[in-house]
Amino acid sequence: MKIMKFGGSSLADAGRISSALDIVAANSRAERVCVVCSAMRGVTDGLFDAASQAAAGFETFADPTQAIRTRHLEAVKELCAGDDELERGVAGLCDELDELLHGVHLVRECTMRTMDLIAGYGERLSTTIIAAAMRRRGLPARYLDAREIIRTDADHGGAAVDFLSSYELIQALLDGDDLPVVTGFIAATAAGVTTTLGRNGSDYTASIIGAGVEASAIEIWADVDGVYSADPRLVPEAFVLPEISYQEAMELSYFGAKVIHPYTMVPAVEKGIPLRIRSTLTPELAGTLIASHTSSRAFVTGIASIENVALINVEGGGMVGSPGIAGRIFTALAAARINIIMISQASSEHSICFVIPDGDAMRAVRVLEAELSPELHQKKVQRFVAERDLEIVAVIGENMRGKPGVSGRLFQALGEAATNILAIAQGSSEMNISFVVHRCDRERTLNAVHDAFFGGMA
Ligand code: ADP
Ligand code: ASP
Ligand code: MG
Repeated sequence: MKIMKFGGSSLADAGRISSALDIVAANSRAERVCVVCSAMRGVTDGLFDAASQAAAGFETFADPTQAIRTRHLEAVKELCAGDDELERGVAGLCDELDELLHGVHLVRECTMRTMDLIAGYGERLSTTIIAAAMRRRGLPARYLDAREIIRTDADHGGAAVDFLSSYELIQALLDGDDLPVVTGFIAATAAGVTTTLGRNGSDYTASIIGAGVEASAIEIWADVDGVYSADPRLVPEAFVLPEISYQEAMELSYFGAKVIHPYTMVPAVEKGIPLRIRSTLTPELAGTLIASHTSSRAFVTGIASIENVALINVEGGGMVGSPGIAGRIFTALAAARINIIMISQASSEHSICFVIPDGDAMRAVRVLEAELSPELHQKKVQRFVAERDLEIVAVIGENMRGKPGVSGRLFQALGEAATNILAIAQGSSEMNISFVVHRCDRERTLNAVHDAFFGGMA
């Protein structure tokens, strides 16, 4: 069986859905297929927007939900004209959503648990329509709600998967010879409470299912021709990589290449299933193959970047040889649920700096002021501030390992581009060098680094 996941960009409207259905129909002639669907483009954002407006007490929460209703009913009309049952089903889901949001508006609060329930309507709506449209084309499609097959803990907003029980459920519910059409992104706890796998989580859904059925391949269909050497929106010279390793894909996606969710590689690696990124706009192209080994000889595979980050530098003479400070800093931030994206410590032990999402910057400073209040008082550490409006850039490649000269070339290029670097970190796996720059330097830096390693290759 092959898993084919279609992202929101490939399901933006009835026309794009039709193209996706052509691709499924052609593939299902050769082998059994399972389709995983995201929400239509922008719908998940609309749901988050509606929930936050409702929780803030604004009546305008109804605007995004009305737009979502109209878009889905239009898609029903174009893809399945005259299917009254489908229209009632879609309208019924939209009614439920409205009721939920009214509840949020009344109590002026949207917990993470409620947010997961609301966010999941996007995938439930799109998948309902797509399964019906496939049946209309004569495909043996069966709507399957992922909450029946993917078990997670209750960490709402990005729950952890219980692989053993999920694989059992997947094997039981995907047995047969029909064409399962599964909602991406959503899952459920053992008690049946709706959870989600985090933003862009439908890619992960596809690979969990792929590993569960030991699929022959997992295909992620998007609106780009594959994984590029850098974000094509920012680096015009970027080109499609024919193949990259699981590790490289994981690093690139962790550092902001949002074409694939970073966890997607985990179940695929475990079962040795090849992943492929392909485009619904150019289905004749092979896209990018992600597998355990590649034949590429290039030192650097790709460049990625994470925007909107802040850097906090904890510095002070009293930190030298004083064990436990790093532990306390990271424990305090973890307790406040602040995610640390990158860490760098000078070997003098005089300073530790770390990078966090910009939105958490002020909170992190308050948390650290409380935690390190004795040290601040005794002047063992200096007062710290968050430096904001920054960007992490990561240069990634498995072949960098043990190759001298890569950082030389990188920093020479940055010097020539007059980029000011605020912090640097290198993973001990030596397949990633990341550094922090000011946001205003982003595009210039990405293009200069791309040119240094790939100049003339596009
Ligand atoms: P989907 O809706 O299909 O899940 P996404 O919007 O999540 O698609 O991901 C595709 C987008 O990822 C592209 O439009 C592209 O701008 C962006 N992107 C960022 N970095 C890369 C990269 N290195 N290669 C390809 N696309 C990238
Ligand atoms: N619809 C979800 C999101 O926008 C999941 C996905 O598209 O993969 O994040
Ligand atoms: Mg995506």
